Amino acid sequence: MSMQVAVLGNGQLGAMLQAAGRRIGIEVTPMDIEHGSMPAPQAIVTTEREHWPVNPFTSALQQHPHWLNARAYAALVDRRHQKQMLDLIGVPTSPWLAPQPHTSQADIHAALGPDVFLKRASGGYDGRGQQRLRHEVAVALEDWAHMAIAERAVRFEAEVSLVAARNRAGEIVCYRLVENHHHQGILLATLSLEGHYAQLQAEAEAHMRKVMEHLDYVGVMAIEFFVEDGRLLVNEIAPRVHNSGHWTQAGAAISQFELHLRAVCDLPLPQPEQYGNTLMLNLIGLPYDVRWLAQGSSQLHWYGKTCFDGRKMGHLNFFSQQRATLAHSLSQVELPARYQSARDWVAARLA
Ligand code: AMP
Repeated sequence: MSMQVAVLGNGQLGAMLQAAGRRIGIEVTPMDIEHGSMPAPQAIVTTEREHWPVNPFTSALQQHPHWLNARAYAALVDRRHQKQMLDLIGVPTSPWLAPQPHTSQADIHAALGPDVFLKRASGGYDGRGQQRLRHEVAVALEDWAHMAIAERAVRFEAEVSLVAARNRAGEIVCYRLVENHHHQGILLATLSLEGHYAQLQAEAEAHMRKVMEHLDYVGVMAIEFFVEDGRLLVNEIAPRVHNSGHWTQAGAAISQFELHLRAVCDLPLPQPEQYGNTLMLNLIGLPYDVRWLAQGSSQLHWYGKTCFDGRKMGHLNFFSQQRATLAHSLSQVELPARYQSARDWVAARLA
């Protein structure tokens, strides 16, 4: 059997797709977004990112006979289109508007309330390209007209996400809902606890199904939600494998990377078995530390990138049948002081 999958982008997601493919006999080739070469005509072409520069390579790639999900990328790349789509299909999201040159700050607060987020329509990620807008502080809006959304700040009880996969036949499988903790807009930790959000699972899956079916999407998709007053509001949709699904490498029989490859290659797509409790911790802006290998209950994934501030360098997956053991494992790990917020967050969830 020789199945080939080409991935636009050669970051850690492409590398983890490649590793997952090797194990099940799929040849996965990550491609540099500037200097990639055209995959063979029979290869399936997918991506590890939703934004890419328009250049001769990316333009040619989109003409490949097996370039997937063109419709989904077009609908999701711009936050305005994403929000319009959610409104159209009746999936709840925070109330929003698209500022125009004549839109004043007072107009925005009149429509959305005193506390608002301005977000670039495209290109922003990990909290970049965002600004908080509070009615008591005047902000120059010229830079945001025509290329941003304004949305009501959500007073959320929790941020959760659902990772799921759909194949061409329309079969969908979902992992359990997991909870995410962000620090300065960057995902720091994901907790996957048995039964923890069981009461919201059906609601999340219904939203996922509507989005995937509307876009006729094939592959893994992640939806990040806010939980507000016990209900789910979509924050963001990622048409790819997602950081909040990395826990599946330790906590499920089929990881999100393998699930994506199965879905795009039309291979069997059973419901992945999920066991115990898993904590994923991102290693952000940290140099390699061999002490991360010292525990028998955690798994290091190191991306081998040049280290700089704020960069995702790797992640640790802690796995345990017992919640208390998870908390203990975390307490044993060497991490800088700024991880205290994550330690406290995890401790509160596991108490
Ligand atoms: P994003 O890049 O849109 O996922 O935003 C990064 C983080 O900023 C989110 O995970 C939230 O913690 C926070 N955030 C973004 N939008 C909102 C909102 N409308 N209300 C409250 N917090 C938000």
